[in-house]
Amino acid sequence: MDTLFYTHPSFLSHNPGPGHPESPERLRAVWKALDAPQFNLLIRREAPAGSLDQVKLIHDAEYVETIMSSIPARGLVQLDPDTSLSPGSGEALIRGIGATCAAVDAIMAGDADNAFCAVRPCGHHAEPARAMGFCIFNQIAVAAAHARVAHGLSRVAVVDFDVHHGNGTQAAFQADPGFFYTSTHQSPLYPGTGSRNEKGLGNIVNIPLPHGTGSEAFRQAVESEMLPALEAFDPEFIFISAGFDAHYSDPLAGLNFNAEDYYWITRELMHLADRHCNGRIVSMLEGGYSMEGLEQSTAAHVKALMQDL
Ligand SMILES: [Zn+2]
Repeated sequence: MDTLFYTHPSFLSHNPGPGHPESPERLRAVWKALDAPQFNLLIRREAPAGSLDQVKLIHDAEYVETIMSSIPARGLVQLDPDTSLSPGSGEALIRGIGATCAAVDAIMAGDADNAFCAVRPCGHHAEPARAMGFCIFNQIAVAAAHARVAHGLSRVAVVDFDVHHGNGTQAAFQADPGFFYTSTHQSPLYPGTGSRNEKGLGNIVNIPLPHGTGSEAFRQAVESEMLPALEAFDPEFIFISAGFDAHYSDPLAGLNFNAEDYYWITRELMHLADRHCNGRIVSMLEGGYSMEGLEQSTAAHVKALMQDL
């Protein structure tokens, strides 16, 4: 497969402060993993700046303006107890949007088969008018909306295997039948949403997993619930909220996935994408707070994206 890799040094400059788990070191761990010789064939592109109009495809205009005018010249501006803006956040946010939207454009143009975007901060907790859980703009939801608006697609899906439920993506999608959102996540856990009875218009499929869930039960849930629901939706583009915090080594959560599980689900999604949408997949880094877990899991995920079916 021809796989694009979008990232940018500005993603290091969003800095929520010393001791915060969503640290710039996370991105360095991802870069380190993808520096290995097996990734020499990745098509590496600098994340371009996106536009505020793209952000506003998902987020309320007033919220977007408030965020962009609140970027501090120094120090931090606290948006919620876990989420803050630093002087470098504005460029990181705009290039995070740019990376995911440019990946969509490149794949629709036939430049590549799929893409992985290593961005910071993560996005799936960001609701249309609220920052929370380390997230400010919901890049994957914006990219999904961009695929519909800029490329005329009718049905786009986001698959989220981050250990946390993507309440922001669900909130943005739940009233629009052209969007589909499915998530495996630990429950109970932050942010507390993601129960099975949150179904939207039938376009939301939540699969909560109890503390301690490991490979076998995860794969069974994906095979029996997530993949059939995705098949039935018949997506024209698949987006992945690739958080790696369900890895057994993660300090913030209690699931027991390993790198092979991320390889496995990526291959399953590629087969499904091949049947429904010419293989079109854009994946974006969400959470993952163990450096070892991030390195191993990113390597497995991107290795899968690069391999032919
Ligand atoms: Zn997470």
